[in-house]
Amino acid sequence: MSVRAPDVANRIVLDEKEMPTRWYNIQADLPFPGSPPLHPGTRQPIGPQDLAPLFPMELIKQEVSQERYIDIPQPVQEALRLWRPTPLMRATRLERELKTTAKIYYKYEGVSPPGSHKPNTAVAQAFYNKAEGTKRLATETGAGQWGSALAFAARIFDLECMVYMVRISYEQKPYRKSMMQVWGATVVPSPSELTNAGRKIRAEHPDSTGSLGIAISEAVEDAATRDDTKYSLGSVLNHVLMHQTIIGEEAMVQMERAGAMPDLVVGCVGGGSNFSGLAFPFLRDRLQGKTRTRFLAVEPDACPSITRGKYTYDFGDTGEMTPLVKMHTLGHGFIPDGIHAGGLRYHGMAPLVSALVDHGFIDGVAYPQRTVFDAAVQFARTEGTIPAPESAHAIRAVIDEAVKARERGESPVILFNLSGHGLLDLAAYDAYFAGTLSDVALSETRIKELVGAL
Ligand SMILES: *Cc1c(COP(=O)(O)O)cnc(C)c1O
Repeated sequence: MSVRAPDVANRIVLDEKEMPTRWYNIQADLPFPGSPPLHPGTRQPIGPQDLAPLFPMELIKQEVSQERYIDIPQPVQEALRLWRPTPLMRATRLERELKTTAKIYYKYEGVSPPGSHKPNTAVAQAFYNKAEGTKRLATETGAGQWGSALAFAARIFDLECMVYMVRISYEQKPYRKSMMQVWGATVVPSPSELTNAGRKIRAEHPDSTGSLGIAISEAVEDAATRDDTKYSLGSVLNHVLMHQTIIGEEAMVQMERAGAMPDLVVGCVGGGSNFSGLAFPFLRDRLQGKTRTRFLAVEPDACPSITRGKYTYDFGDTGEMTPLVKMHTLGHGFIPDGIHAGGLRYHGMAPLVSALVDHGFIDGVAYPQRTVFDAAVQFARTEGTIPAPESAHAIRAVIDEAVKARERGESPVILFNLSGHGLLDLAAYDAYFAGTLSDVALSETRIKELVGAL
């Protein structure tokens, strides 16, 4: 008697040998011209030499590459295989609870050692730096996910790692700091006394709790002023988004195997990297006119760059040291309220995501944090996994879409990125249960002020 495979696959895992061996570069397929980054001083388009103090040449090349596919180097593949390929799951228990006619799938990136999608690019960046002689990496981190991913990757490729961690998170989220220290990184609260950018802020605002924009200024200054050190960014840049496309390339094979191609792809967006990582391989087919898949980027009400920001040239940091890039932004001076989804508190958005939003290929939606935690708890109580507060934004949108589908009698296939687990965010869940979480939306007046100043 032969055993038949079940009609419904709930957990689709790939063999190690099936891990994709190249990244997808969406720049090769864009049906519109890009907007070049501008030099912060001259406001002229920058060249590779302008970026050379900060990044290894291979990453600078990837940043502007028009090649559709770029091979993943063997040592990077080997590092990725510590946790990849990641599983793709069908959320059948959540579907049943919602009584939805939609099919819901998620790609789970929380299985990496640091617990999120971020090491997908961290290991690639550490590798290229090592290959070009860098001894030390400097970076910033908000809630600590990026810092922990880079600390882990720096350890794999035997580099020193210096992390400027937004002061409020340093004080409120000590365990991410502990993880970075376990992997051997040095962590300082930002603003710090170690850089001009940090000292300047502290002189003006001695009690500053920091922001991602300030921490970026500190890390960039550290790298620009030391020969042995380069800078590493965990989101926003083209090469970072490209490194994340391994998520979508795997998901494509897994969805094919499940016999379901997505009608809707959903991800949360801070700088845009986990969303793009899942979405871009599916967008490739849409750009070539082969599918009509919808793409939905979900952001917090407290930091709504896509839904309420302006699409214009702005700095990536508070200190005006980075190049100007064209993106959806709330202004580089904007310090978002201290919501628990720390990874979504960035004033800007990846230029590639911004351009695709502007041309109508990606839609945006924003949610206040309490309703996001409602969704997080509902997900944990059905699917088991406790999501990161960032990822829970995607879950909120997926639940709402699934309920709409039921009301309309439609049965779309929905795929979302569960970008990380929330096991180091339990204090945020405590606050939710204690009823002390507040919803902090930006008023129309404040948005007008912020965007008007650009
Ligand atoms: C950092 C982070 C995000 C936000 O960053 P993106 O670049 O927009 O992906 C989302 N989810 C998790 C779990 C994160 O750690």
